[in-house]
Amino acid sequence: MIWDLSQLVDDTNPSWIVEKLEAMVREALRLRDMYYGKIGGLDSGGLLDLLQQGDELTLEYEGVTLYCRLIYSANSTDEVAKHLNDASRTALVKVGQALAFIDIEVGKLLAGNPSLLDEPGLAEYRHYLERLLMRVPYMLSEAEERFAIAKDKNGINAWSQLLGDWLSTRMFEIEVDGVKKRMSYGEIIGLYESPDRELRMNANKVVYEGLGRDEIVWASAVRSVCADHLQMCEFRRYPSPMTQSLVDNDVDQKTLDSLMRTIEGNVGLYRRYLRLKAQLMGLKKLANWDITAPLPNIPAKDYTWEESRRIVTESYMGFDGEVGGWIDEMYERRHIDAEPRVGKRSGAFCSRWLSGRSAYILQTFNGMRTDVNTQAHELGHAVHDYLGSRHQRPSNFEIGMCIAECGSNLGELLLTDRLLSMAGSREEKQAILVGVLDGFGMTAFQVSARVFFEQSMYDAIKQGRFLDGETVSKLWIAGRDKIYGDAVEWLPEMKWEWTMKPHYYIPNFRFYNYPYVFAKLFTFALYRLYREQGRAFVPKLKALLAAGSSKSPAQLAAELGFDITTEEFWGKGMRQAEEFIDTLEVTF
Ligand SMILES: [Zn+2]
Repeated sequence: MIWDLSQLVDDTNPSWIVEKLEAMVREALRLRDMYYGKIGGLDSGGLLDLLQQGDELTLEYEGVTLYCRLIYSANSTDEVAKHLNDASRTALVKVGQALAFIDIEVGKLLAGNPSLLDEPGLAEYRHYLERLLMRVPYMLSEAEERFAIAKDKNGINAWSQLLGDWLSTRMFEIEVDGVKKRMSYGEIIGLYESPDRELRMNANKVVYEGLGRDEIVWASAVRSVCADHLQMCEFRRYPSPMTQSLVDNDVDQKTLDSLMRTIEGNVGLYRRYLRLKAQLMGLKKLANWDITAPLPNIPAKDYTWEESRRIVTESYMGFDGEVGGWIDEMYERRHIDAEPRVGKRSGAFCSRWLSGRSAYILQTFNGMRTDVNTQAHELGHAVHDYLGSRHQRPSNFEIGMCIAECGSNLGELLLTDRLLSMAGSREEKQAILVGVLDGFGMTAFQVSARVFFEQSMYDAIKQGRFLDGETVSKLWIAGRDKIYGDAVEWLPEMKWEWTMKPHYYIPNFRFYNYPYVFAKLFTFALYRLYREQGRAFVPKLKALLAAGSSKSPAQLAAELGFDITTEEFWGKGMRQAEEFIDTLEVTF
């Protein structure tokens, strides 16, 4: 359960590592000397050379920077890890600064000579260059970009820092099992998933009451961040507040519109599930503190590390032998750190290791069903990395958020399949299905409420409305009700739910939400196709994951014979969810 990071570097001696980081910075400066101000004069051969050198730089030094980041994630209290992580981050900032000119100069070169995109020698980089070209009309000058970064650093960026500081320093008072306790935000939100219904309700009440008390701060922050974005849209000539996000995620408005229409058209399906869950919990109606709560009386099921490894590997093996082999390799070569440990980063992640054609995973394994699910999820990211590193250069592996969660979501579905086939009792089956459907509901539907909400704030500003706390809350409730209708009872304090979502405070990261909806429905649709076509679909799905970012999500779907600008495609994902709901209903 402890990973072996020594494979990432030739030598784990800190002085060797620091020397390697220094060499990385020297190499970046060498590239800068060679190309700064000269990219405009390159022909296709010269451009290819530059792009390849950039990719080689990534591959050569990826192992050492990854090593520094991962030893720190595994134990942030370790002095050597702290030192190396810091040295690595500093070196990476220097490299980023040294090479920032490349995108700007290549963008200008392409804008002046778009036929370069059709050069056969550059075919491998075609979509990478197309995406760069797409950004050119919205780029500011290098001086203006630098100015904006410097101003934001001590200006608009401070709001998200403030929210983070507020949440991490606040203490909440709550009674647990008859004892009054003072809890941090991180602790009290853990009670949202408690089997004790009243405790779940109280935890929600206490947190949102507290957040609502400072509404004046949150409304002020959200107003400023939105206004700043609209101002930047004007400077950058973005036609709408959504454009930056669409460009970043490599999708178009038409696709997004049909995705959101599919959500709106299927809220009835989600509400049907919520009513079923209420029945399972013995309630007339779910309250907001029940939406993701565990079922009462679920059979306790603890998994050992060995069991989890076997079940997860079998899930992938049943899909494809080669993929199953990679999963086995991840365990066998000790690329997973799962031991609970003080100083270890919370949560879970998978880091690609392109030059090693593999990946590393960090999680904290406590033997719960959710831990097995997390393992299957992160290993799905690893499968994506195994395929991508065998077929793409690093430049073609900057996967947008819409596609990045495909391998992982697929892994969870394969595990679900396996667990359902193994389930011994009706209750166990219900717990598995509720786990999948709660996840689907939160990602596809709850996140959609946030998309509607965010859009409505920009519409309100456009109409000249002043966004005070109560007005923002009304907009949030309108977006929320569009999804939940009367299927859920809400605490009045939940009108402040928008206040704690960190993303609303992050400038230059607007509309981060719909890619989650996209990824969830996209994977459910792919899984549906796999169920329909069986074995014949496996190579197609592997090709999709192997493509990395060398093709747009629309192209990837088109190669499977689908048009993501139509509701018909997204409906396929909904039908898969419906099948899970039907299966749940017959267990009653
Ligand atoms: Zn993920």
